[in-house]
Amino acid sequence: MSFAASVLTLYPEMFPGALGLSLAGRALEAGTWSLDAIQIRDFAADKHRTVDDTPAGGGAGMVMRADVLARAIDHASPAGDVRPRLLMSPRGKPLTQARVRELAAGPGAVILCGRFEGVDQRVIDARGLEEVSIGDFILSGGEPAALVLLDAVVRLLPGVMGNAVSGEEESFENGLLEHPHYTRPQEFEGREIPEVLISGNHKKIAAWRREQSERLTQERRPDLLGAQPLRK
Ligand code: SAH
Repeated sequence: MSFAASVLTLYPEMFPGALGLSLAGRALEAGTWSLDAIQIRDFAADKHRTVDDTPAGGGAGMVMRADVLARAIDHASPAGDVRPRLLMSPRGKPLTQARVRELAAGPGAVILCGRFEGVDQRVIDARGLEEVSIGDFILSGGEPAALVLLDAVVRLLPGVMGNAVSGEEESFENGLLEHPHYTRPQEFEGREIPEVLISGNHKKIAAWRREQSERLTQERRPDLLGAQPLRK
């Protein structure tokens, strides 16, 4: 059973975009996952195909209408569809590798991309949308965020990554940032590959990598050290 993504957007041309290339693109072609980009405007009811209106209470910008979005969501995700319904939103729970893993293990996702100031709260409540953020910054729309989320999910689908082991050693998978990498040439602008990595002593190499991971995490992301490791 392949992972089915339905993306609701005012810019369906943005999809599959970057996900049509490389690993994700090959997996899309192979049918490991599917992508349906749905034009929200098709669910507008008036002849101008209006999808937004001015904010109740005043203020700058426009708000996406609940009724139009509800029709689009109900079309993409009729009763009985068990896929989670996500709303890309800077107010959402920050996306984590743990949530990415859960999504990849599931049947797919329905992803709503906001634009303007955001979406009417009532559709979030009425359709049980899970708000997901990709970080503490503001994008002009949810589409790049949806591409980011799908990229992270698709690479975990069975058969997508050539070398399955590399996925398990990555940053965040064990609650730590990854150790530094090196490859040939042995010397680059006077800098050598650390001795231990060419020693052939696998135990020492593993210990060195672990040490580097812990040092980097302590320096850059001490917040991760307080958190429970995902696995192991
Ligand atoms: N007025 C809103 C920002 C709207 S940005 C606020 O202050 O919270 C327009 C749209 O871009 C949002 O509806 C959302 O879908 C998307 N977006 C912006 N930043 C995002 C982020 N960090 N993560 C996920 N989606 C984001």
